[in-house]
Amino acid sequence: MTVFRAALRGWRYAWAAPCSAVGLLLGLVAWLCGATVRVRAGALEFGGGRAGALASRLPAPCTFSAITFGHVILGTDHVTLTAARTHEQVHVRQYERWGLLFFPAYLLSSAAQMIRGRDPYLDNRFEREARALAAGAPSRPTC
Ligand SMILES: [Zn+2]
Repeated sequence: MTVFRAALRGWRYAWAAPCSAVGLLLGLVAWLCGATVRVRAGALEFGGGRAGALASRLPAPCTFSAITFGHVILGTDHVTLTAARTHEQVHVRQYERWGLLFFPAYLLSSAAQMIRGRDPYLDNRFEREARALAAGAPSRPTC
């Protein structure tokens, strides 16, 4: 790895660090509730335990199987994290591009979709991009 690539990689982690800090706090809670932690593809993955079971039983729209905050991915269990890794890694790249701005950008995209009568999750531009790239197809923003 060249010095430039190492510096760029360090910059991406630093730029996304505020979001990763949120993920680490949530991951700490999950870990205290029995989750285990693994490092995969440059991200920490927290899975399992009582918090994972609770996340899968939350009512819609709060339920989730995996969610990403910077370089931290929280999942209901490690089997789910493995299945969702490609999609969640797209979100990691999005955090590396947007940094702390990812939170308001994501919410604004969901709000824009709701105003248009669309699904705030499925039609969110970041989710569409993640699904498209995870499926190997180019994304088509419609906003
Ligand atoms: Zn997603």
